[in-house]
Amino acid sequence: MKTEQQHRDEIVHFGKLLHQNRLVAATDGNLSVRLDRGRILCTPTLMSKGLMQPDDLVIVDEHGKKMSGSREVSSEIAMHLLIYCRRPDVKAVVHAHPPTATGYAAAGIALDRALCSEIIVTLGSVPLASYETPGTPELAEALAPLVAEHDAILMANHGVVTCGTDLLTAYMNMETVEHFAKIALVTHLLGRQQTLSDQHVDKLREIRLKYHNHVTAVSGKD
Ligand SMILES: [Zn+2]
Repeated sequence: MKTEQQHRDEIVHFGKLLHQNRLVAATDGNLSVRLDRGRILCTPTLMSKGLMQPDDLVIVDEHGKKMSGSREVSSEIAMHLLIYCRRPDVKAVVHAHPPTATGYAAAGIALDRALCSEIIVTLGSVPLASYETPGTPELAEALAPLVAEHDAILMANHGVVTCGTDLLTAYMNMETVEHFAKIALVTHLLGRQQTLSDQHVDKLREIRLKYHNHVTAVSGKD
């Protein structure tokens, strides 16, 4: 079991990585960790995720009400709370605006084609949630139908949200989405996508099932 201080240090560390790896710009993005059943440790609003100190973080309850911290909580906390509510297995959530994946989200294209074996094993597929204004309950509602079966979701004209059983996993899922988006973009540039057959996808889903509690939808065909 990690201490609260260790969780604070981890959020600061992965916030720096988000910024250094250009998955966010300026004050974009937010990260959170579920400390226990009723307490979420979250990044503050209006602050670069590359410049945070452990004391800048805020603790809120499961309804988003601030319990401690001198700064104000991220305006996008509602999507984090929705994921924690619907997914008892999730202990960390990361939201960012990675340029290539967000480009797909802005083009209205989900990253759900069976193009890469590794992606099917790690994420299954990355669906696209409809656009709603950031920070509103409507955005959380748009994500709601997708949360149960996906660890990474594109949000139309906005960005990406990922989750995991710990912060490292949630962060790596964000890197994976952006990397996959770049690969998918190259297939568009080449003018051809050779998707895996249903048989091959089924074998990969079996591998995924061994490592995850749930299997997400993957399309093997056009
Ligand atoms: Zn955002």
